Amino acid sequence: MNILLRPWNIVFLAGFIAYIGIRGVFARRTKGNEVIVRRLDALEKTLLLSVGVGSLLLPALYLFTPWLAFADDHLPPFVPWCGALLMAPALWLFYRSHADLGRNWSVTLELRTGHQVVEQGVYRSIRHPMYASIFLWDLAQGLLLQNWLAGWGAFVTFAVMYLVRTPREERMMCEFFGQEYRDYMQQTGRLCPRLRFKKPT
Ligand code: SAH
Repeated sequence: MNILLRPWNIVFLAGFIAYIGIRGVFARRTKGNEVIVRRLDALEKTLLLSVGVGSLLLPALYLFTPWLAFADDHLPPFVPWCGALLMAPALWLFYRSHADLGRNWSVTLELRTGHQVVEQGVYRSIRHPMYASIFLWDLAQGLLLQNWLAGWGAFVTFAVMYLVRTPREERMMCEFFGQEYRDYMQQTGRLCPRLRFKKPT
């Protein structure tokens, strides 16, 4: 069994359980919060499915079956160490963005009763901290798993989803929150923090 052969797989699995756990806790908290706008079309469903394959199915097949052995590779020893170090900021930012977004969080493009534009915490200078944390996590996955398919499938599928979804998400937010969200866009970076400088008075 693959998982017992490589200690880095155990490290990945431990982080992965924490990652799923964070998502599970916050998903339960938003459950009863009524959805008033849902933009879950065929494109969005396809993107979610492909991310599920890259982030869940491929790593599970790699860890628990021999089916992906054809894609195994051997990385220099320092590479998985970098992946393990990256897991810490990825999990921290994943947790913080869920905590700051609170009841406004959705797995897809949705607005909920009482939805507000969150501009505090990790949303203060980044518009998409959760997506930034997923990129960090997917990078850690690629560096930890010594299999190019299971390692990098998540990064590639999420990058496609990010490129397609983010403009649609921002359009939806602008439609519903108008100038408030447009101002927020001016003050923040998409994935990297934009430093706010005080305007001279
Ligand atoms: N793109 C954000 C949020 C991902 S969750 C991030 O990466 O952190 C997706 C949902 O969050 C969207 O359906 C939208 O309704 C909501 N959302 C995105 N940005 C928001 C914000 N600044 N305030 C409140 N809700 C937001």
